[in-house]
Amino acid sequence: MEAIANFRTVFEEERPRLTDVAALLEASRCLECGRDGRPAPCIEACPTRIDIPGFIRAIREGDPLTSARIIFEANVLGGSCARVCPVEALCEGACVLTHEKRRPVAIGRLQRYATDAAFAAGIALHPPRRQAQLPLSVGVIGAGPAGLACAAELARLGHEVTVYEARSEPGGLVVSAIAPYKQMVEPIPQEVEAIRALGVTFCFNTSIGEDLSFAELESRHDALFLAVGLDGDMPLEIAGSDLEGVWPSLRFIERLKAMDPPPIGENVVVIGGGNTAIDVAREAVRLGARHVTVLYRRTEAEMPAFRHEVEAARDEGVQFEWLTLPVRLLGEVRVSGVECVRTRLVPDPSGGRPRPQVVEGTEFVLPADTVVFAIGQQPRTNLLATIPDLRIEQGRVWVDEHFQTSHPRLFAGGDCVNGGATVVEAVAQGKRAAHAIAQRIQPLESRPRPMTDRKETLQ
Ligand code: SF4
Repeated sequence: MEAIANFRTVFEEERPRLTDVAALLEASRCLECGRDGRPAPCIEACPTRIDIPGFIRAIREGDPLTSARIIFEANVLGGSCARVCPVEALCEGACVLTHEKRRPVAIGRLQRYATDAAFAAGIALHPPRRQAQLPLSVGVIGAGPAGLACAAELARLGHEVTVYEARSEPGGLVVSAIAPYKQMVEPIPQEVEAIRALGVTFCFNTSIGEDLSFAELESRHDALFLAVGLDGDMPLEIAGSDLEGVWPSLRFIERLKAMDPPPIGENVVVIGGGNTAIDVAREAVRLGARHVTVLYRRTEAEMPAFRHEVEAARDEGVQFEWLTLPVRLLGEVRVSGVECVRTRLVPDPSGGRPRPQVVEGTEFVLPADTVVFAIGQQPRTNLLATIPDLRIEQGRVWVDEHFQTSHPRLFAGGDCVNGGATVVEAVAQGKRAAHAIAQRIQPLESRPRPMTDRKETLQ
């Protein structure tokens, strides 16, 4: 195996801000598609339906602040999404230039250019809130992307919103688990400040079921929106997983976000086939590992990670071992290797994805100074169990097409519903749920007003 050059630093962002000239030149490449009432394909590919040709036109006309307002109108986390969206699979993948085999308009970088300009200018990101005819009080549980989007949209519509968050800060996985080469923390603080300016109240350090019962929350609010995301990594249940140098992916990324990367040695093995596994592998390259190998028990075609991310990792020198299962981790105190076995795919009798089956006699050992496992996240079973009559299906909160759960005044969205998807998808769900709440819920006459019990707020 060839050594990997440490050609990028851990904290260098992948999609930096464009210069003014570069932004103007890039904006001038947009063809402003969309005719006869049909939106441009890039808009149709955006879960939050940002008016992409509209914001690009404003940049071309030298007005990035108007451009930013167009973006935030559709997506209250438009600055964060400019950094973390898988644009290659969404707007840029759908751009007509891509279909003409040309380089797509760099929509993500233009979005970052405009939103950064708005943050630098300190303008109000959102217009003043409207007056609701029948103002509701809504409690939002969780200050991640879905919760923030729902809270902001309801506040814009003129409703009272309180966000309850177990952690001491907002942002959810964006601040703790998005790889630093995509986004450290900025601009979440500015985006949250803009949501607070809409009148949303934040209660941090408040765990539902511990600091505050679900019944108490129900009595305070006309409706609730559940956006608690997922819990930590699924455990790696093989011998040796308690050795030093073995990390669950989220704890590993958290250390990077805290700018305190652990020593990783020369050989890093990442177990898993999703986007988090790829993020960890690419960060290991940036940390200076000489050999980074991703193990996945199915084929490349079956891998859930985005294709462009896999290609980017490969370009940076990451090796992939497909159809490979780790059977135990080797070492005395610290991990020194991973014993693996090859697999083949066999049909699933219940009609699901083909299943990996061990091929006997194919054992081999990969040297490893660090092993990171990224095999999925667990549902928040304990928290969900405190909510009466909540229907759960395969660890996910069940919702109907209006994001309404089996509990009539409880709506839900984001990772706890979809099992873990993109930030922009969580924002889109929070936004749609907000409109469903505003349309379907009437104020409770029995509810005491106003609310006063705030544990700790941003104000
Ligand atoms: Fe511009 Fe591409 Fe969108 Fe067309 S599809 S409006 S060229 S960004």
